[in-house]
Amino acid sequence: MKKNENQNNLSHEHKCDAPGCHEPGTCRAPKDKSLTEYFFFCPKHAREYNEKWDYYQGMSEAEIEANLREDVGWHRPTWSFSANKPSLKDPFNLQKELGINIGKVKNKKIIDPEILKAMKILGIQEPLVKEKIKEKYRELAKKYHPDINTENKAEDIFKKISTAYKLLLKTVK
Ligand SMILES: [Zn+2]
Repeated sequence: MKKNENQNNLSHEHKCDAPGCHEPGTCRAPKDKSLTEYFFFCPKHAREYNEKWDYYQGMSEAEIEANLREDVGWHRPTWSFSANKPSLKDPFNLQKELGINIGKVKNKKIIDPEILKAMKILGIQEPLVKEKIKEKYRELAKKYHPDINTENKAEDIFKKISTAYKLLLKTVK
């Protein structure tokens, strides 16, 4: 044990600040332009941080930390800073990549995929109205009921219709 000698050794005092990384934080990287506070990273994450430095420079310390915690961005190899600088509101450039308008997503009602599937099966669209659901169900049930329809697929289809119907009915209640 070289206790005394190691007291000022950074690698023994800090773990890498990158989320989920357990490497010793041997590299010091400034948190902001004032250079008064530092992150400690392993060499790999220090390199990644350096590459993102331009981007982080305009942010407050809290914003940078919030960004570091976003697993989505940190390890994403396709994350490009140079080509299209992401905004704070959309740091991972989802807007462009996924064709999502981040600003609007909040206000838009997100429909459960199971419900969407059920709507598709019954062939109905929003707004969900009890009468409309019942009407569509009756129509399709008549067509696919195994007592009436002797095609092989009919029973399966009938089951799907019934399940979708029950789910949608529960949804409008
Ligand atoms: Zn690390």
